[in-house]
Amino acid sequence: MAAGCAASFYDKANGGRATGVSYIDATGEEIIQPADLVILGSWTLNNTRLLLLSGIGEPYNPATGKGVVGRNLTHQISFSPAQAFFDKPLNRFMGSAPAGMRMSDFDGDTFDHSNLPFIRGGTLAGIGTGFQPIVGFGAVPSSVKARWGSEWKKAAVYWYDRVGVVGFAGEHIAYKDHYMDLDPTYKDHLGDPLIRMTIDWKDNERKIVEFAIAKGVELAHAMGAKEVIPAAPYGHYDTRRYQSTHVQGGTIMGKSPEHSVVNTYGQHWQASNLFCDGSFAVCEQWLRESHAERYCLHVPHRGRRDRPLPQASGPSLLTFAHSPKQKATAPSVPARGRHL
Ligand SMILES: Cc1cc2nc3c(=O)[nH]c(=O)nc-3n(C[C@H](O)[C@H](O)[C@H](O)COP(=O)(O)OP(=O)(O)OC[C@H]3O[C@@H](n4cnc5c(N)ncnc54)[C@H](O)[C@@H]3O)c2cc1C
Repeated sequence: MAAGCAASFYDKANGGRATGVSYIDATGEEIIQPADLVILGSWTLNNTRLLLLSGIGEPYNPATGKGVVGRNLTHQISFSPAQAFFDKPLNRFMGSAPAGMRMSDFDGDTFDHSNLPFIRGGTLAGIGTGFQPIVGFGAVPSSVKARWGSEWKKAAVYWYDRVGVVGFAGEHIAYKDHYMDLDPTYKDHLGDPLIRMTIDWKDNERKIVEFAIAKGVELAHAMGAKEVIPAAPYGHYDTRRYQSTHVQGGTIMGKSPEHSVVNTYGQHWQASNLFCDGSFAVCEQWLRESHAERYCLHVPHRGRRDRPLPQASGPSLLTFAHSPKQKATAPSVPARGRHL
């Protein structure tokens, strides 16, 4: 691990294998690190970007449906369906990340969808992470008409410790026209194209949100809220609004190279010594942890020529032996973004 580095692209899979990583170090010098085994774990957006910059795998084309790199970009429905105002103080200045409760009654296919205009769903939650005095200040119920001044201040002080929210985390399914590609206009400080996301909410997400708002309001009333403010419905996707860090897709996992970038071991279909890890393919940290176990158990096997596993796809499996890093010299370093 070298601090201050930013890998800019991976070497082209050469005859079914990746040959190393090139990056710019803290002094601005370009370094090539040869490797027999490359693990790409730079998070969803960067994983896709680095594969596209490296030319490893066929970029997804939404017009033809061909290609896989960048495909199936999804995010997450994440919002508070209802704000609930209670009679009694909640001591909400206390809390911790896991101090809460999540219910899965309306998640996935666990409930009856026969009269509902959407598929899938999400979880409702009440979570008390601890609300700081300034950040958590200022919520007042609709019955308070003042928006500033002493009347508003008095109400805001009164309601500060009497308000809570019902949370919701819902599914964003994959669509053919939601994908990532290299931006034709915007570049980073090294001149490499940035990643471009093409994504929006569609009717399925908007209907889930409507449903979640109704359930959240119902739940808040059932909890004894004196007043409840429902959330606004979803319009279009908006990157300015914090929407959770659960961005998935782009380098998806699957059973065939026609439909996925990596196999179910995280091994790249075209470069047998290149493994991808992270939230690119498996949503949610806890799912990743179960994936990590499978991954850790199998990467060493797959890195050995003498112990191939049945699902091995590439022409050869390589050892873990590291080579010393090399400073880039003119003949061995192509223009940035080109293949080695
Ligand atoms: C505040 C917060 C709360 C969260 N809560 C939850 C939760 O409750 N439950 C849950 O399931 N998930 C949660 N998540 C999401 C979860 O943490 C992430 O989905 C997960 O950590 C992503 O893992 P990753 O390995 O794909 O990427 P990361 O953990 O982001 O690791 C990628 C690494 O790659 C490095 N990198 C990127 N680009 C380059 C480059 N070009 N060269 C070199 N290095 C590079 C980055 O610096 C980083 O260290 C939360 C995230 C945040 C921020």
